[in-house]
Amino acid sequence: MTGCEERACSIRRTVVEASRRANVGHIGSCLSVADLIATLYGGILRGAGTDDPERDRFVLSKGHAALTLYAALAEIGVLTAEDLVGFCGDATPLGAHPEHLVPGVDFSSGSLGLGLSIGAGAALAARLDASARRVFVLMSDAECNEGSVWEAAMFAAHHRLAHLVAIIDANGQQALGYTADVLDLEPLGERWRAFGWDVLEVDGHDCGAIAAALTPHTALPRVVIARTTFGKGVSFMESRLEWHYLPLNENEYHRALDEVNGALA
Ligand SMILES: [Mg+2]
Repeated sequence: MTGCEERACSIRRTVVEASRRANVGHIGSCLSVADLIATLYGGILRGAGTDDPERDRFVLSKGHAALTLYAALAEIGVLTAEDLVGFCGDATPLGAHPEHLVPGVDFSSGSLGLGLSIGAGAALAARLDASARRVFVLMSDAECNEGSVWEAAMFAAHHRLAHLVAIIDANGQQALGYTADVLDLEPLGERWRAFGWDVLEVDGHDCGAIAAALTPHTALPRVVIARTTFGKGVSFMESRLEWHYLPLNENEYHRALDEVNGALA
């Protein structure tokens, strides 16, 4: 197991433990992006967790996966285990969606469809500052249902924002249905290409492939369509719609924990 894979497993364990403690859902969405976020925080994001103005920026557009971000920030020592114990409790900034008050969180998010606009603005700001910093936006696939995403896509292509990388968690699901049934997104890659983006498709659970897709590039904004499995790592959650919202009961918690711990063993 590589360091990135170990980090992803550790993040999954944190997600299972903290969501149970807080009795909250969005667990399947959090597990879907564990490998993507483990890779980003495993050396891709320069200056992650610092206040260096030249650090790369990260926008978690699918803000309901905040717990995965907090777990990654704990992996790199920006948050503590104690911070995670307080997740969704009183007197903590660690809520179900990320706020910029949390150490290491650059942008508040949670209202879907807005992250790419924020990222495009941050990438344009980097250019105006003559800065080499890059901007990464992690979106859900169903955010591509929203017109605001395509406005931002046109803006970024028009300005040739090569420091902007959109990563799409293409798990084929959204809150109340499968994307193919609700509003079909395919052919997703061709659509982004038609909007003037450099398009790559990867296995969203392959740390090496993800890292290779996130290397610096030139000329055009890049979108990485990461094919993922919703609920990845907990067998009874995988590709199951109900785990968008459900919290774990005691029995499910122990089954889930056994599976994520088994992956780490
Ligand atoms: Mg989705």
